[in-house]
Amino acid sequence: MTYLAQIVFVLVLAGAAFILSKRIKRIKGNIQLGKPLATDGHSSERLKNMLLIALGQKKMFKKIIPAFLHLLIYVGFLVINLEVLEFILDGILGTHRLFAPYLGGFYNVLMNVFEFLAVAVLFSCVAFLIRRNLLRVKRFYAEEMTSWPTLDANLILVIEIVLMVAILTMNATDQLLQVRDEHYTATGSLFFSSFLMPLFENMSTGTLIVVERFAWWFHIVGILGFAVYVTYSKHLHIFLAFPNTYYAHLKAKGEMTNMDSVTNEVNMMLGIQTDQNTAPAEVGRFGAKDVNDLSWLNIMNAYSCTECGRCTSECPANQTGKKLSPRKIMMDTRDRAEEVGKSLASGGKGLEDGKSLLGDYVTNEEINACTSCNACVEACPVNINPLEIILEMRRYVAMEESGSPASWNSMFQNIETSFAPWKFAPTDRFNWSQELKEESSS
Ligand code: SF4
Ligand code: SF4
Repeated sequence: MTYLAQIVFVLVLAGAAFILSKRIKRIKGNIQLGKPLATDGHSSERLKNMLLIALGQKKMFKKIIPAFLHLLIYVGFLVINLEVLEFILDGILGTHRLFAPYLGGFYNVLMNVFEFLAVAVLFSCVAFLIRRNLLRVKRFYAEEMTSWPTLDANLILVIEIVLMVAILTMNATDQLLQVRDEHYTATGSLFFSSFLMPLFENMSTGTLIVVERFAWWFHIVGILGFAVYVTYSKHLHIFLAFPNTYYAHLKAKGEMTNMDSVTNEVNMMLGIQTDQNTAPAEVGRFGAKDVNDLSWLNIMNAYSCTECGRCTSECPANQTGKKLSPRKIMMDTRDRAEEVGKSLASGGKGLEDGKSLLGDYVTNEEINACTSCNACVEACPVNINPLEIILEMRRYVAMEESGSPASWNSMFQNIETSFAPWKFAPTDRFNWSQELKEESSS
């Protein structure tokens, strides 16, 4: 590799690292728009969750075929990226297959494993494309799956296929060059790429070198481009699934979070003395109207969403034709956080832009349709909790706007005055048994 090639490579690498660091900073800032949140439970339990759910993909295996295909892509992604280290060092140092002389026979084993995984990834991506576009799995075709989410999902599969073809092409041409030119480091026979060798064997050595170099550059620039693209895509879950599962609540699903300020008020009304009600807690806003009223974990949940739609397909409200889709709630939360972050970065008004998550993205009709059943939370393969965001927005509507449906408001009133959803004092509830007693004694 010439010095010019090394200089170009270092510039490309530095450019990708610069854009990537800016995107990571932006996403971190967007997540930090949320309120602080204390983590619950023990760190060892969190770690176990992360290893089982993010690394082990435990929840994916509820649907065995997509789980298996996804696992192939995932393992392929993790393992093949080890090869990227060699690509980067070769690019910087101007070497070719730097690790081969050091690893000896093991290099051949490693390359064959990479090739097997490349073929497995290729096969899985084609299967996913067929599933998504020809078999048209229902959950990929909801209202919120507009042109960009659909394009994003297809684009990433196509990119992965092209990258895998590039790596196999590079190995096939490289094997031919090893025979013709002693300067090429021997890798030993590579099983899968050798099937492609007949396509190239009639080419001149000069053409082979061009094809091999093109495939090399295409693969590494493609990987760097992929890394940047992922930060704009639902595929950010590749990385965020890990912190997301680590920080996911450990409390029982369905246990709602009390508001300290309200608990404090009620305790004081009932004359219950606690540590908290010695000084009034700062109230702020009840519930959530915009992303800054949510916790940072809610926003990180939104950035971790894979848009798989498992939550929506399990949601009873969605199944019965209501407007609610928990996937859309997560997508809206991420879109609003992105909008605010972009505005702040360009010196705009940020959260003061006259828009909000509730109202401009999510409607009251959607949040009111939720039955709080937790099916979405249970279904999510990366432990995302759409219900928490819905409940926070409902709190805002109920407590700040008194905007809940009339029937709910009378239920709230009854609970407040009668300690029950009905308009009876607790002591009156068994009056009906009195009548029975009278009837039986007469
Ligand atoms: S908790 Fe709400 S959003 Fe989630 S599945 Fe149940 S009804 Fe749907
Ligand atoms: S919230 Fe979870 S289940 Fe729902 S679309 Fe996102 S990743 Fe899938």
